[in-house]
Amino acid sequence: MVKIPFACGECHLILADGVDMCPRHPAAQVSTDWTGYVIIIQPVRSEMAKRLMVELPGKYALKVNIR
Ligand SMILES: [Zn+2]
Repeated sequence: MVKIPFACGECHLILADGVDMCPRHPAAQVSTDWTGYVIIIQPVRSEMAKRLMVELPGKYALKVNIR
């Protein structure tokens, strides 16, 4: 069984294994219920980064469902 990492409900950042708190948004909810997977390398030049309002490179979920 593949373990699903948490994604931040605020910035959609996909967190590292075993991490359940976004380093940028400690107060934000995290969820394993997310879809889509994008790796953003150069946020300035990425249309996807603009859509997700991402300013820092990293791995992001397209959609995060917070219960
Ligand atoms: Zn975050």
